[in-house]
Amino acid sequence: MAETKHRVGILGGTFDPIHIGHLMLAEAVRDEYELETVLFIPAAQPPHKLGRKISPAEDRYLMTVLATCSNPSFEVSDIEMRREGPSYSIDTVRALMRTSGGDTEFFFIAGTDIVREIHTWERIEELLEICPFIAASRPGCRPDVEKTRALLGDLGVRQIHLLNTPELEISSTDIRERVARGASIRYIVPREVEQYIYKKGLYR
Ligand code: ATP
Ligand code: MG
Repeated sequence: MAETKHRVGILGGTFDPIHIGHLMLAEAVRDEYELETVLFIPAAQPPHKLGRKISPAEDRYLMTVLATCSNPSFEVSDIEMRREGPSYSIDTVRALMRTSGGDTEFFFIAGTDIVREIHTWERIEELLEICPFIAASRPGCRPDVEKTRALLGDLGVRQIHLLNTPELEISSTDIRERVARGASIRYIVPREVEQYIYKKGLYR
């Protein structure tokens, strides 16, 4: 009898802070691709964000746990936070594959703002070969994704899937700016995350 593999989505991010856009994205992909689990992976020091001051990994990790703990299909991994140096997605996926013992299929979930630049990523061909990308629209980024797909040739066309989801104009950048100027973030982040931000005095 053919064994059915576990299907797991990977959603990496800075999550500074995690917001409703991330949660809706994860749930939309889980539903559409019949995933058992979506694994949220907060990045340690993202290679492409070296210039900006980001919140301590522990705060970002805890907010991600607070935001996801009521959903039995959502899990959080500290795999990238425990690793020294810059985190490359290919290393993360390889490590997850090793620990899963080969009975799991992985799907890389990302917004189109990320997917449009993956041709610059470390060992991207290798990553695409082992793990399809599910790209969800972020305002204004879709045409660029088509370019990236074309740049990656057959592999790009075969392994980058576009998912139609409602475009939410929500970003962590906007949330940080709102907190800094004292504007409300209610309903843009889960209640627990909002409370954590105020309790820890983040983004002031
Ligand atoms: P920042 O403004 O700090 O870059 P962000 O809101 O883009 O934060 P990230 O942690 O950078 O959040 O994003 C993690 C992943 O979630 C990325 O793949 C990103 O494209 C995706 N994402 C973030 N916000 C949305 C959204 N509103 N709709 C769809 N995807 C999103
Ligand atoms: Mg971003």
